[in-house]
This record gives sequence, structure tokens and C-alpha cells, in this order.
Amino acid sequence: MKLSSTVLLAAAACATALSLPSCSDSKSAATTESNEAPTSGLTASAATPVSDKAAASATAPDPASIPASRIADAATITARPQVPILCYHQIRDWRPRDSKGAKDYIVPVEQFKKQIQMLADSGYHTILPDQLYAYLATGAPLPEKPIMLTFDDTDLDQFTVARPELEKHGFKAVYFVMTVSLGRPRYMSREQVKQLSDEGNVIGSHTWDHHNVKKYQGNDWVTQIEKPTKTLEEITGKDIKYFAYPFGLWNPEAIPQLRERGMAAAFILSEKRDQQDPLYTIRRIIASGYWSPRTLHNSIEQSF
Ligand SMILES: [Zn+2]
Repeated sequence: MKLSSTVLLAAAACATALSLPSCSDSKSAATTESNEAPTSGLTASAATPVSDKAAASATAPDPASIPASRIADAATITARPQVPILCYHQIRDWRPRDSKGAKDYIVPVEQFKKQIQMLADSGYHTILPDQLYAYLATGAPLPEKPIMLTFDDTDLDQFTVARPELEKHGFKAVYFVMTVSLGRPRYMSREQVKQLSDEGNVIGSHTWDHHNVKKYQGNDWVTQIEKPTKTLEEITGKDIKYFAYPFGLWNPEAIPQLRERGMAAAFILSEKRDQQDPLYTIRRIIASGYWSPRTLHNSIEQSF
């Protein structure tokens, strides 16, 4: 069937076409910021530093429930300290045929375990996109040492290897799914995606088949954004509100299209954010398979 070659191509492209751009606007990581009155929908649990478990399960208002008048302007949002966000792809041991470049996107299992252990030992608390949105848009406080973990491309090892590892530490994550790959060999099934969602992780959209957003025309927005969003909403029973651009590539024209289709925020890689629409160009760094825990720690501190 034609689709499986599309999936392979998409995954291969994702694993090889990206580079690790240098970071353009680095600041120290956020802790809390509370110079604005809390939004009515905010829970008290996010207001003070809390235990690991509570931090991971802290709730935040749905972005749609936050009145437009409460949302800060772009300059204010851009000025807030960035929360570190890591982007993972495959979690598996390297094979002889893996290219040098691909190994940035393939984190060996033991290396991954050590990276996650380092985050736990360093006192990081994982946050989820609604918390990040409330922080960026309204200045809502976050747990101490917040970090967001994201996984792109629907790879099965994210469920079988990463998920249990995160669970050990009470960490939650965001999984950006490309729907074409659901149920195919080496990718997650619909049931696994639902389980991740039921367990308190967030499912986001990563298009239907990983085509570059900058090239969309006409019906592409339906194929790549509308239909996959509907599929993911059917699977999870929840609204899909967050989007990760394939290859991290975006253009200003894409932002109103995403907004119209229910996306509250969108994620790029480590390039510069858009000054007009920082919520649709939230930065992430790829946690490389080459990185020791120490290198990851340094990268987090230097990149955000
Ligand atoms: Zn991808």
C-alpha cells in the first residue's frame, strides 16, 4: 500500500532533514512569574511549588476559557523567561545503518534513561501545554524548575520505552502524532495513543503525513490539519489544541490557518520565535542521542 512508503519517507525525512540550529535568543529558565492577577479559571495548585507528583498533574485552564482581554501582548509574552522544552523522536539503540545525522534523532535506551534521571535528580517538574499557555498568555505561575517533554512522529518506542521511564518519575509528556502512521508497524496504535491521553499526557497534532506546512495550499489544510485533528479528538475524546510543525518549519501565513482550526499554540524547533505570534512559534530543542546527561543539562541552560 502506498501509505507505508509515505510513512517511511516522512520518518526518514524527519530524522535526517533537520539540523540543530544554534539558539538565537537565550535566557535563563523560568521559575515563577506572578505579577499579574490570577485568571479566574486557574487552580491554586500551580501557584506554589509543589511535589513532583502534584506538579505533574497540576491543571490549568483551557486556553479557550481565558478571555482575550487577559491575554498579554506579544512583547510581554516574548519577554517572559522561556520554559525549556525538549523534543524527542526515536528511543532505541543505534543500528549500524543509522547515519551520523540520524543519531541526533535516535536516543539509545540507556542514554534516554540517564537523561530522564538527570532531569529528576536536578529537580525538574514536567508541565503540560495548558500550563505553559496560561503562563505565557497570562503570567500564571508554574512549578519550580518547569520543563516540557515532547515526542514527535508517533514512534512505537515512545510508548514501550519512554512512557514507563517517565512514569517512574511521575513525569508527563506531550506526544505529537502524525495520523497516517497510526497502527502501522513500528508506530503507535490508536489504543496506545488513547492510553497515553487517559494517563494524563497530552496528544497534539503533527499533521497527517508530515508534509512541510510552508507548502500548503487550499485543501492541504483540511488533509493535514482538520482531518487529523478530528481523528485525534475521536481517539482521545478530548480537544486537540496544540500543534508541532513538521521539521519545525513554519511561516507567518500558517498561523491564522492553525488558529482558525482550533490550535491554541504551536511549536517550532530552536530557531527564533515570531515577534508577532510567539504563542505559535514556541521553541524546543532536540535532545540528541549523542548527549550525555551533562551535555543535555548544559544545553537546557544555554538554549532557553
Ligand atoms: Zn516530525
